[in-house]
Amino acid sequence: MVKKIVIVGGGIAGIYVLRSLLARKSDVEAEMDFTVLKREKSGWVSTCGLPFALRGWYEIERTEINKPQFFLDQGVDFRTETEVTKLNLEQNSVTLKTGETLKYDFLVIATGRKQFVKETELEGVYTFNDEDDARKIEAALNVEGVKDAYIRGRGIIGLQAAAAFSTRGLETTVHGGSPSLLPSSLDPDMGDMVKERMEKDGVRFILDSREITAIKGHEGRAKSVVIGEREVEKEEIPADIVIIGKWMIPEIDLAWEAGVDIGESRGIVTDRAMHVKKGKRHITNVYAVGDCAEVVDAITHRPRLNQLASTAVTQATVIADNILSDISGQPGLYSPCEYCFGPTVADVGGVLIGSVGVTSEAASRAGIKTISGKATKLTKARYFPGATPLTLKLIFDAYSKKLIGAQMVGEVTVAERVNELGVAIRAGITAEEMRSMERCYDPSLALLVDVTIDAATDALGITPVY
Ligand SMILES: Cc1cc2nc3c(=O)[nH]c(=O)nc-3n(C[C@H](O)[C@H](O)[C@H](O)COP(=O)(O)OP(=O)(O)OC[C@H]3O[C@@H](n4cnc5c(N)ncnc54)[C@H](O)[C@@H]3O)c2cc1C
Repeated sequence: MVKKIVIVGGGIAGIYVLRSLLARKSDVEAEMDFTVLKREKSGWVSTCGLPFALRGWYEIERTEINKPQFFLDQGVDFRTETEVTKLNLEQNSVTLKTGETLKYDFLVIATGRKQFVKETELEGVYTFNDEDDARKIEAALNVEGVKDAYIRGRGIIGLQAAAAFSTRGLETTVHGGSPSLLPSSLDPDMGDMVKERMEKDGVRFILDSREITAIKGHEGRAKSVVIGEREVEKEEIPADIVIIGKWMIPEIDLAWEAGVDIGESRGIVTDRAMHVKKGKRHITNVYAVGDCAEVVDAITHRPRLNQLASTAVTQATVIADNILSDISGQPGLYSPCEYCFGPTVADVGGVLIGSVGVTSEAASRAGIKTISGKATKLTKARYFPGATPLTLKLIFDAYSKKLIGAQMVGEVTVAERVNELGVAIRAGITAEEMRSMERCYDPSLALLVDVTIDAATDALGITPVY
């Protein structure tokens, strides 16, 4: 019998569940029928590529990896500009705004996240969540006389937007909370390095608790942002373009109205197979994936959000495994989702940032005492052309001395290190083991004594050999 799989959401999470199932449909004997329902007009868009399009590296259109027709040609009922209004978990069906009802054998909730932003009539005020936002921002950048940008938010998206604007010659102000940048990935000392680098490129930072109290305009276009409540703290910042890059929450309305459990992080609660939970039981034919779902942190064991494409694809693979396992009756195909180590990398205007595991602050909030070590070294021999510095901070559990977090700021090779240190955290490597581990060497590719050794040595309170 044909199994009907309905995916609500055509972002990276929904598309990856679809792609995984399409790729593996011949692994099982049963026939599958796929429906994808999404609001946008597009097919599969790489949201993560949008900041670089704004930097001018390529056209926004290039981020649409597959048009809807690509999926329609594979027999997928791929419906764009479609609104789902209700999930009927008891009847195994979803209802569309048109009133149409679609039955499913398996439902995947991949509804992403949304932003709480006050509506404004003014041109020039945008969020930066998808390709439509990117197009509006691109158009605004090309309006004659645009010279000032204000960004609310000190996370990766805000900083990448700031890098794009300053590269394109705008006077750019980033406004976020204190004490420093990227607080979910970097300790303040590491965040400050990013700030200093971006300041050199002309970006101005305001890091304090003031909120936006007004956005002023002229002839329908934004002209400035006023921050601060009290007269003494008020400041008016020139802004022809305003980007609101915070107040992002999981899009859980459909799930919540259907009675699905929502966790303390405000994301959908799942078990390790990614089944949603309703009351006391998990519903084994309904899954949640991506930005709408919460994860369990691998170090603190607390639920939290980790709204990244890399997290979504890992979860999507698990969902595909489990749907295939159920359809085929082969338990061997089943897989559980890993706890979340949160490996993160970002390029903000040439400053490369990496992190994995917990920050010192997140560890402290979870009652974990830490020791940490930091070192700055070149990534290849000093006499070699192109040698650039990398600062690495390693965070260890003070009791077991096991690695639980790593953060880095540099100009090259952070992604490989983030993945390597993620494996080290997972394997429970200690500071002593990291210090004594032999590492590869060739002056054109690596240093004789890598920065990792020095950071681990520093964490143990021993002076590294420089
Ligand atoms: C500018 C930017 C840069 C980023 N860079 C990176 C990066 O470098 N690395 C990284 O790992 N992550 C990055 N991210 C995060 C990453 O893009 C997100 O984690 C990822 O896109 C989440 O995918 P998703 O499918 O869960 O959600 P979304 O992409 O938000 O998709 C949600 C889908 O659900 C649909 N939907 C919701 N409700 C309904 C409804 N009622 N009816 C019909 N359809 C509905 C929407 O139409 C949409 O298709 C970036 C994000 C942004 C905005």
